[in-house]
Amino acid sequence: MSFDLVLFGGTGDLAWRKLMPALFQAFRHGSLPKDGRIVGVARDDLSDDQYRELIQSRFNAVEGAKRPSAEEFEKFASLLHYLRMDLSKPADYARLSDLLKQRNADTVVMYVATAPALFTQVVEQIAAAGLNGPSTRVVLEKPLGHDLASNRAINAAVCKVLDEKQVFRIDHYLGKPSVQNLFAMRFGNALFEPIWRREHIANIQITIAEDLGVEKRGAFYDQTGALRDMVQNHALQLVCAIGMEPPINSHADAIRDEKLKVLRALKPWTPETLGLHAIRGQYTAGTAYGERVPGYKDEPGVDPESRTETFVALRTEIANWRWAGVPLYIRTGKRLASRDARIEVNFRPTPHAIYRAPAGAVNKLVINLQPRDGLELHMLAQAQDNRRSNGHQSAAQLAPVQLDLDFDKRFGAERVGAYERLLLDVIDGRLNLFVRSDEQEEAWRWVEPLIDSWASDGGPRPYAAGTWGPSASSAMIARDGFSWSEEQ
Ligand code: NAP
Repeated sequence: MSFDLVLFGGTGDLAWRKLMPALFQAFRHGSLPKDGRIVGVARDDLSDDQYRELIQSRFNAVEGAKRPSAEEFEKFASLLHYLRMDLSKPADYARLSDLLKQRNADTVVMYVATAPALFTQVVEQIAAAGLNGPSTRVVLEKPLGHDLASNRAINAAVCKVLDEKQVFRIDHYLGKPSVQNLFAMRFGNALFEPIWRREHIANIQITIAEDLGVEKRGAFYDQTGALRDMVQNHALQLVCAIGMEPPINSHADAIRDEKLKVLRALKPWTPETLGLHAIRGQYTAGTAYGERVPGYKDEPGVDPESRTETFVALRTEIANWRWAGVPLYIRTGKRLASRDARIEVNFRPTPHAIYRAPAGAVNKLVINLQPRDGLELHMLAQAQDNRRSNGHQSAAQLAPVQLDLDFDKRFGAERVGAYERLLLDVIDGRLNLFVRSDEQEEAWRWVEPLIDSWASDGGPRPYAAGTWGPSASSAMIARDGFSWSEEQ
């Protein structure tokens, strides 16, 4: 099978940090079809060789096993090409057309990794240049819009010229091995299904914590904020993976139908819940890695008067028969105490205690997404230090133990990273791990009341860099009698 992968934004941050390394790993693993071209597109005037040198210079900065040897890079570089285009100029698309017609590849992937403001224009011009044939697939990066109306406008423009089956809206969290294993664990095994419900689960916590600040992306982040950057997409996709019913088969639409139902079942916001169950914060100066770091408003590119949230904590519920009454907590932020992304499913305690157990110890399933991928099942087991006292066996004491599946250790170098998995899926035309337009709209619909109410409230609550966010986040969960995992 031959393919052309056109990377709009081929010199950008995403291309450099994620896409090129993922394509190289796919090449190294032998999974990339041999007969392929990867065409970087941007406005700089570069030859193919200059583009290859640019990519090589960036790979040279990579440490460890992920860095290609000179021989490996030379082979990979033979796939790389460059096309100078200004995507806002319709005339430039004729040159893209000429390049693609050189060989009429079986599959043409157009990966739109440029500013979201260009998405509509790019898709319209692809069509105007006659490049939207049946073999064309278009990948759209997030964020797709900044609210429901703008998301609908982009999707309407896209769907006018492309069939939904040609559109790959990427959410790289769905490509993470641990998320795919969450699906496998739930729908490939019978073990958890009987207890995957309100009668057995006390609460679910989703944490996506970053210890870094906004780095060099202050200007972008200040227009976006944590709700749009992380909650509307990544966190809600994780909610779907946890909450969805078993699909009738493994086809993309069967899976996406079930995810859509979860989004539709999320409890709508009310004035009361907007006040009590939606906390936002913004980091101030603090300590990270033992060093003083500036507050958000002092970061380069950020408005010194900014009201943009760098932290969000939400409490919601999936209002259906399986989940009614089970609190679902979502928390994400920058400059938090550690880099840690995980889902915790906390099970209810035993109905009657015959053992002594440490306070608050319960069974829980932890799906680790970052920094390591893996699953942990927290059990209570017989402690090994029971002593006889006064000639009697003391009441049996339990201690927490973990059954640990660490994908890095288990699968090592064979492990396929998120972008690698998703890029291969696009080339192969598999839509299972991509987001359909109605799912995306429903997610925007759910976050829209938060956007609206935050536009006119008192602003985000301050929290010191290097902590777990404003104390109101802990107070929110404590009102239900629970606590975040690091407080347990
Ligand atoms: P970036 O570093 O600013 O790169 C933008 C790329 O687009 C550059 O190659 C730029 O090259 C090119 N470009 C801009 N205007 C162009 C035009 N008119 N014609 C042709 N090329 C043009 O942005 P990024 O961080 O890579 O982000 C790209 C997209 O991915 C955005 O939608 C972003 O939201 C999304 N995303 C990024 C990340 C990330 O970690 N970076 C993560 C998730 C999603 P020239 O300026 O030289 O033309």
